[in-house]
Amino acid sequence: MSELRVRFAPSPTGYLHVGGARTALFNWLLAKNKGGTFILRIEDTDVERSTKESVDAILEGMKWLGLDWDEGPVYQSDSFPLYKEYVQKLLDAGKAYKCYCTSEELDAKRNLAMQEGRKPKYDGTCRDRGDHPDGQPYVVRFRAPQGGVTAFDDLIKGVITFPNEELDDLIIQRTDGTPTYNFCVVIDDATMRITTVIRGDDHVNNTPRQIQLYEALGFPVPQFAHVPMILGSDKARLSKRHGATSVIAYRDMGFLPEALLNYLVRLGWSNGDDEIFSRDEMIQKFDIHNVGRSASVFNTEKLLWLNAHYIKNGDPERLAGLLLPHLSSREVTTLGGPDLMAVVKTLQERAQTLVEMADRAVFYYNAPDSYDDAALAKFDKEQVLAVFEVVTEKLSSAPIDAVVVVDALFKEICTEKGWKMGQVGQPVRIALSGGTQAPGIGEIVVTLGIKETLKRISSAREYVTAK
Ligand code: GLU
Repeated sequence: MSELRVRFAPSPTGYLHVGGARTALFNWLLAKNKGGTFILRIEDTDVERSTKESVDAILEGMKWLGLDWDEGPVYQSDSFPLYKEYVQKLLDAGKAYKCYCTSEELDAKRNLAMQEGRKPKYDGTCRDRGDHPDGQPYVVRFRAPQGGVTAFDDLIKGVITFPNEELDDLIIQRTDGTPTYNFCVVIDDATMRITTVIRGDDHVNNTPRQIQLYEALGFPVPQFAHVPMILGSDKARLSKRHGATSVIAYRDMGFLPEALLNYLVRLGWSNGDDEIFSRDEMIQKFDIHNVGRSASVFNTEKLLWLNAHYIKNGDPERLAGLLLPHLSSREVTTLGGPDLMAVVKTLQERAQTLVEMADRAVFYYNAPDSYDDAALAKFDKEQVLAVFEVVTEKLSSAPIDAVVVVDALFKEICTEKGWKMGQVGQPVRIALSGGTQAPGIGEIVVTLGIKETLKRISSAREYVTAK
């Protein structure tokens, strides 16, 4: 068998959708698994709808996910002369013909067919026409086989058969001389020697037309794998209505690329009951035959769960780098504050997203400008002041460079004074972070450092005294 060659062929009419990203991922995985070649092709022949911004957004999404391509990006718009050449070949071989029917004529025929309860189909008026009216606009139609069937054995869906009589003589070139979508796809896939076409199953109906073109042009027909759609929770096709659908939106919401990839690979594909797949494991285990036949429902909760897993187990230095833009967008500067990597270590256990982590990291860099009064009110004022005093005294006189040391110190205070841990820890946590949603007290103290810790307790003391 020849070397495996696959492609991802987005139309640049919007951002990279999670559904597109999953199609790209399956292509990429198959190529990596089989030592094949993954090509990125931008299908920009629809000049009206294609934009440079969209190309950039697609490339940005692919790069963020780490879906690196081996060839391309190839732009279809660079191949117009090639398409023309192949249209001419089909015309010369009598496998395509010029059709002079006007759109009014075609509309009238279509309406009549519908009125009579027939399926509208081009009636072949120009199929065997001998004359070529000069100067009259024409389209080029493919002379499609009339009888029999066109069938293919889809790697995901199994054998799919279409009766040829249901397929029109496809227009392959418009009156303005531009080639049409299905024709370009075939010429590209054939000349790029694509061996396996993996794409969304919204393209299933295009496949028999494309196969007929391959056969007419004498090209080998590739294998096809049509991936079922992704649905929203209401079982309608996933769209903006259901929430974010753009890959980059997930980046901005604080998801890690490996979490989104892991989520997407499991959306429709399985390997036993395994849920967690590193990039290498996915590559090793991916088998297109294990992609399910039915559509999958997008589940944000599961994505969050995976993201939390990857944050928890992530390298703190890398996470710190990824967290920085989220802090900058909150106008938080880490300069002069605690080491961001140390901060990450105190937060990665519990954060589901980098956005959540950034929210929780703010207090390390900006001392609280208000306190959670409701939480403070749970304690007696004199008791809180006594806690602040004792804690200040203890912390000032001991080296506090390790979390265990600080934790031990707090335990000691409790034993000496007969206080409960909550009575001591909670007011101090409020003093240091403004609220109660914060890491363990030892972690905060060590990360903030003794000087900043004492300064914050002193401010909180003034605040409580004045109340
Ligand atoms: N450009 C098509 C799309 O974005 C994909 C065509 C194909 O993969 O054959 O849906």
